[in-house]
Amino acid sequence: MMPHMEDIQVVVMMGGVGSRLGSIVADCPKPLLPVGSRPFFEYELILLKAAGLRRFLFCTGYLSSEIEDHFGSGERFGVSIEYQRDSVNEDGETALLGTGGALRHAYPRLDEDFMLVYADSFMDIDYREVVYRYFDAKRNGALSLMTLLKNGGRFDKSNVIYTDSLKLYDKMNATPDMDYIDYGVNMFSRSVLDGYNDGDRFDLSDIQHALSLKGALEGLVVRKRFYEIGRPEPYREFIAYAGDRFDIPKKAAFLDRDGVLNEIVYNEDTEQLDSPLKISELKLLPGAAEAVRRLKADGYYVFVVTNQPAAAKGKTSLGTLWDINKRLLELIPDIDDVFMCPHHPKGDSRSREKELIGPCKCRKPGTGMIDEACARYAIDRDSSFMAGDSYTDIECGRRAGLKTVFIGDYKCDICARLEYNKPDAVYKSLYEYTGNIGNELGNA
Ligand SMILES: [Mg+2]
Repeated sequence: MMPHMEDIQVVVMMGGVGSRLGSIVADCPKPLLPVGSRPFFEYELILLKAAGLRRFLFCTGYLSSEIEDHFGSGERFGVSIEYQRDSVNEDGETALLGTGGALRHAYPRLDEDFMLVYADSFMDIDYREVVYRYFDAKRNGALSLMTLLKNGGRFDKSNVIYTDSLKLYDKMNATPDMDYIDYGVNMFSRSVLDGYNDGDRFDLSDIQHALSLKGALEGLVVRKRFYEIGRPEPYREFIAYAGDRFDIPKKAAFLDRDGVLNEIVYNEDTEQLDSPLKISELKLLPGAAEAVRRLKADGYYVFVVTNQPAAAKGKTSLGTLWDINKRLLELIPDIDDVFMCPHHPKGDSRSREKELIGPCKCRKPGTGMIDEACARYAIDRDSSFMAGDSYTDIECGRRAGLKTVFIGDYKCDICARLEYNKPDAVYKSLYEYTGNIGNELGNA
């Protein structure tokens, strides 16, 4: 069984001196560089915490006591933080062990499997998928997972060959067929450090390179760019980006998926209407992509919030459910984020993923997915709405304090259930609704 997110150990590499930032950093460790109202790493911590991660080991070196003073036990941030100081010294010369050596020095405190991130990067990805894909690949012999971004020379030098799986990672010898770059979020089995001794100097990329040659390095391609503040230009870019995203509340369209963006599927086995259970079953409804485009043009964030209990019920795997969402993002790239609840209170004994069975806060009409979106983005709930084709969507939107839009046929069974909980608007399709949006909710 896959561990729960709150049990996963997250190792944060914080030892760097930030020499490429020159005078900008003057006596400030990179994680504490000012970005608007907070130090840099607090933004990344928002993302990690929103994904349910709670256990942190900060590997510090340069100015470690300042970092410890700021983050403390983590209680102030709702997480638990331990510290491992670099063994060498505390007065600036701390990169001596390299990233690998620093990690090896922390060996006695490492879990058997752990996540590793770098404290100078903001990485907006689905951390739950990272954990799931790693443990899934581990069953087939993988010892590490590396997240990857299709790069094409945008950020730094590409260093990965990926063609439907990770073929080679090599930071030292770039070749023309390298089109991906390592993104900065990794999973490791502690055993990859077994051949090293405390005090050895080496880089983690040496280990990752060797694992890729053995076919033991799993790759996971992610969608959004990262911000690595090790250089002045991306640091300035992130200050602008973070100010816009975290400090200026914006309106958001929370959209149910099945029946709003894509067709419901007739399942021949159960003779019932169901969600798509494989990629080929995902078919967009007419006008759905155009409707999302209109919302974006009107200044909305567009978030998909979808209950997908099929893996908990043993009808498909959680990996396939993520694949289907990725397909949706290929078809409608304007969507800002997809939030998925994969849980089901009862599930089914056929499920291979029993950890998905049980109560949760995210399953609609619960508001967990909307709350998570509001933690990760500044959102003005008063000017936001939830649109869906079922009773639970309307109830969820109401509980979250959003305006509500019913999409589809307002049949009698639905009317009856919504009698005391009427949606603010009813439309046949999202396309129709977005053609009238100014007249409806705007004036409501
Ligand atoms: Mg639906």
